Amino acid sequence: MAESEVDLESEQYEKHREAGRILSQVREETAERVDVGVSHLEIAEYAEDRIRELGGTPAFPVNISIDEEAAHATPAIDDDATFGEEMINLDIGVHIDGWLADTAITVDLSGNPELAEAPAEALEAAIEVVEPGVDTGDIGAVIEEVIDGHGFNPVVNLTGHGLGHWEQHTSPNIPNRAVSQGATLEVGDVVAIEPFATDGGGKVTEGGTEEIFSLEREGTVRNRQARAALKQITDEFRTLPFATRWLETDRAEMALRRLKRNDIVHGYPVLKEDEGCLVSQKEHTLIVTEGGCEVTTE
Ligand code: MN
Ligand code: MN
Repeated sequence: MAESEVDLESEQYEKHREAGRILSQVREETAERVDVGVSHLEIAEYAEDRIRELGGTPAFPVNISIDEEAAHATPAIDDDATFGEEMINLDIGVHIDGWLADTAITVDLSGNPELAEAPAEALEAAIEVVEPGVDTGDIGAVIEEVIDGHGFNPVVNLTGHGLGHWEQHTSPNIPNRAVSQGATLEVGDVVAIEPFATDGGGKVTEGGTEEIFSLEREGTVRNRQARAALKQITDEFRTLPFATRWLETDRAEMALRRLKRNDIVHGYPVLKEDEGCLVSQKEHTLIVTEGGCEVTTE
């Protein structure tokens, strides 16, 4: 089998594992600090600083999604929001030299423990069926069944994904419902599985807010701050997502608007269910092995 030639002890996989070890520690330490009255910005900065202290680099801004929000929300530069009695999803990433780990957890302060637990249970069941040759559609079927069994809907237009070098999202997609023809996983694939559950309809739409961005293409700009921002982006983040608050230039928001207007940078609108609904999430990164898989963010 050609797949068995993948060397799972190589430096690349060791970096994936190290990213995963740092990330699981940071996820637990961060989740513990989430409470009513604590500020979103403090939590995001705590996690991102802790990642650096432990020798990693944040792979994307800490996503803090509240209630109907599912993804792509992160605190603004001067954010003063605090947690209330809400459902809170923390989605955090680490990379070591561009080799990534991606994880998420729901902290429920809203009093809906079953909804918070459903994606965790779905993820556990999904991990059980991962092995070389498994169809991603069958993983999706397992996720859907578990979430369904709790009386909730999976969010079907958000999926798990492969993790590439300096790339957060690569093929294959790992659906959160049964699909008839998925992709086949092979030894050495590094993938994130991320079930989302909701008491809403199960389809998120784009909201009006953007706080996370990434480089779209090479380009040049004349404005001084925009040029400084672009240099930091290409040197430091490359093609990985970043937040406005990560930019070191003065007038960062203006600089970003210019880069966006020139289609050099694009934003990720916050993705959400209908207002009044709740969304929960759980995510792990894993490496497909001969015998099944190895979860790097356990
Ligand atoms: Mn994630
Ligand atoms: Mn992910």
